[in-house]
Amino acid sequence: MRNKEVVRLLFELSRPGRRAVRWPACDVPECEPPPPEAVREEPLPLPELSELDVVRHYTSLATFNLAVDTHFYPLGSCTMKYNPKRNEKLANLPGLTDLHPYQPQASVQGMLRLLYELQQFLAEISGLPAVSLQPAAGAHGELTALLIAAAYFRKLGEPRCKVLIPDSAHGTNPASAKMAGFEPVEVRSNPQGRIDLEDLAVKLDDKVAVLMITNPNTLGLFETHIVDITRKVHECGGLIYLDGANMNAVLGYVRPGDCGVDMMHFNPHKTFSSPHGGGGPGAGPICVAEKLAPYLPVPVIGRRGEEYFLDDQRPDSIGRVRSFFGNVAVLVRAWCYLRTLGPDGLRGVAEHAVLNANYLLTKLKPILDVPYGERCMHEFVVSAARVKRERGISALDIAKRLIDYGFHPPTVYFPLTVKEALMIEPTETESRETLDAFAQALVKIVAEDSQVLQQAPTTTPVRRPDEVTAARHPVLKWTP
Ligand SMILES: *Cc1c(COP(=O)(O)O)cnc(C)c1O
Repeated sequence: MRNKEVVRLLFELSRPGRRAVRWPACDVPECEPPPPEAVREEPLPLPELSELDVVRHYTSLATFNLAVDTHFYPLGSCTMKYNPKRNEKLANLPGLTDLHPYQPQASVQGMLRLLYELQQFLAEISGLPAVSLQPAAGAHGELTALLIAAAYFRKLGEPRCKVLIPDSAHGTNPASAKMAGFEPVEVRSNPQGRIDLEDLAVKLDDKVAVLMITNPNTLGLFETHIVDITRKVHECGGLIYLDGANMNAVLGYVRPGDCGVDMMHFNPHKTFSSPHGGGGPGAGPICVAEKLAPYLPVPVIGRRGEEYFLDDQRPDSIGRVRSFFGNVAVLVRAWCYLRTLGPDGLRGVAEHAVLNANYLLTKLKPILDVPYGERCMHEFVVSAARVKRERGISALDIAKRLIDYGFHPPTVYFPLTVKEALMIEPTETESRETLDAFAQALVKIVAEDSQVLQQAPTTTPVRRPDEVTAARHPVLKWTP
């Protein structure tokens, strides 16, 4: 249970002379002392604590977290699903964790084989034959693929400068386009929450390098005109990038390559069961069409007969985007997850993710407006605009109050196309009881007095930190 006591810093808990470990007296000759100018005049003002002080401090801090292992975590767009513990265990086998990336390739054949197989699995799931496991996150995958697109058009001698991005897209899409040297151009959504085909037609010309598309999109809606859209972009000579963050909804049902997509990323930390959040590592493997394969970053994992190797003899490659083999520990978990579920299991993931989201959508419709979609895919977006107008309750108030009820808040104020948005993604791993309890909590919260809600959360050590200031001007130095 989380408690409300004020968290004190280790520096405040410090008592002079307190120690976790006392070393025995040195029984070997001391080495030459360092030159006096290299020696500190005063000892560093570090906290002095016993081992137990430190253990209690960090263990108690950890209990303040709402985590997927302790609480329902319906964070839309980010697929915070439960990560089976067996994958953790397998990824922690010493034969995998004790490898060093500088070992000779002959001595890491097992790991290379695992990574090679993962490339094949991702190629099969995406319907795109060429894979790089290098990118370190989804956003990094976007950047890498856009650099590939730039290299491709450079080789063709076509100066294309624009990347089209729907207004419901994740902020990383325009950021990646800009970083890759393109000019991001927004495409409007239609009243049904999907790409507006007329606006697309207006913006499509021979300067367009790439259309980035998220399918299902961030409203949890399938872009029903995907094949038409990819055809139109191809007719203009452009490429299609699929932001694969929402693949949980369509695994085993829709292969983006079959819809005309040329490049995409996966987020193994969302879709393939790696823990994420709190800044933990992720990965962003990309899959591309055959014609883009020569530009993939090096190294790609190759195979000659029974031998696996790091293929870096690729003259048209955009070069390296990540040290060594990529974020291998995350990729190993993805391999374990895919091998555990198999093709039928993956379809089951998509089916249950969509079923759970629609169940919750139906429960919440009577209390909060759902501006887009009678039905949804793996997630949906409700709007608190009406309750804000009528009773002064904002999406933020609802989200903060959910913490008091023991639920991690959903994503809020995204996508930007919905006012007072709460974006809810239950994922396939949650039981009906959990979904019912969450819906029940929201029913209660929406009926509460706005003044109560504006005070929320009341059960946490900190209430509503100024997130922008905390991110832009963090106070990292302790002054007594
Ligand atoms: C999470 C997400 C991204 C970015 O992925 P990271 O792995 O966090 O870099 C991009 N697009 C969408 C729709 C996302 O949900």
